[in-house]
Amino acid sequence: MIPVHVYDTKPYDRQYLQAAAPADKVTWHFHDFRLTVDSALAAQHAPVVCIFVNDRADRPTLARLHAAGVRLLALRCAGFNNVDLAAARELGISVVRVPAYSPHAVAEHTIALLLTLNRRIHQAYQRVREHNFSLNGLVGFDVCGRTVGVVGTGRIGRITAQLFRGFESKVLAYDPMPAPEWAAQHGVTYTRFDELLAASDIVTLHLPLTPETHHLLDAGTIGRMKPGAFLINTSRGKLIDTAALIAALKARHLGGVALDVYEEEEGIFFEDLSGEVLQDDELSRLLTFPNVLITSHQAFLTHEALSEIARVTTENILRHESGGVFLPGTML
Ligand code: NAD
Repeated sequence: MIPVHVYDTKPYDRQYLQAAAPADKVTWHFHDFRLTVDSALAAQHAPVVCIFVNDRADRPTLARLHAAGVRLLALRCAGFNNVDLAAARELGISVVRVPAYSPHAVAEHTIALLLTLNRRIHQAYQRVREHNFSLNGLVGFDVCGRTVGVVGTGRIGRITAQLFRGFESKVLAYDPMPAPEWAAQHGVTYTRFDELLAASDIVTLHLPLTPETHHLLDAGTIGRMKPGAFLINTSRGKLIDTAALIAALKARHLGGVALDVYEEEEGIFFEDLSGEVLQDDELSRLLTFPNVLITSHQAFLTHEALSEIARVTTENILRHESGGVFLPGTML
């Protein structure tokens, strides 16, 4: 039996992981709390630790895990900006991830956010429930014929671009590693980043968070977006400078903002804080704008994605223990 300490788990994580792992091979130790340097102590005498997007595997935390006997860090997500990979390498801790669980889940949530925000579905739902059948203030625009700028055309960005092409939108794309054949096949046009910002009615982010992409959208780049444009971020919160975003919203430069991720979401997203005083002033301010829609990092949350995350995570753990080769694309 392989003991695995699983941090930051919710009932849906537990359900899918338990269903994926053979009961005689893996013992899951589920924790509600996130991995930090302090909570690393919970992983005593376990060779494997499993984490998610808001757990923090920095150098001191990894050193503590290593001292406790951990040799494999299994990420049940694609992004790995929360792991100090150099430190893991030095300590001899293997790091694996789930590179693609359901790009459709995230792409479809991106479309859901855009349509909800644009057609004011969230406001209309509340109004009708209160027997307010007025349409005042609910005017949206046709997505057909609009220009959509897709930043990052990897797995999720490509599906998002294709879905927007289904709406008969004009799709521009920016990626330092373009895929010209795919673009030609789907009627997508690659442009420079600045051109995409200036021309797009909707800008949607589908790139990883790295030191180079941190605050990719700041006062300068947001300022170069078309006045009245919509911005959607389902990738990572720190791609956007929140203070600059709030300033642009206050100046009415942006028409709408839909976020599934937030710069300081750690410790807030995934938690029920409904009875508490929200301490994050920037998130509180964002929530006051009528043209801002926020979901709590739920773009991945479909049956298909959770099944695939659990399947690949379990497979990675079993292969590590048997000394086998990891699944392609999973090892970092
Ligand atoms: P991917 O690796 O398949 O594609 C990322 C693309 O971004 C690549 O083509 C890469 O060349 C491009 N890129 C890198 N730097 C860039 C830059 N400066 N400008 C433009 N493009 C750049 O990744 P993916 O599977 O499509 O995922 C994209 C991101 O979505 C992930 O990094 C992750 O942060 C996020 N994500 C969010 C959720 C969620 O639930 N909200 C779930 C899964 C993934």
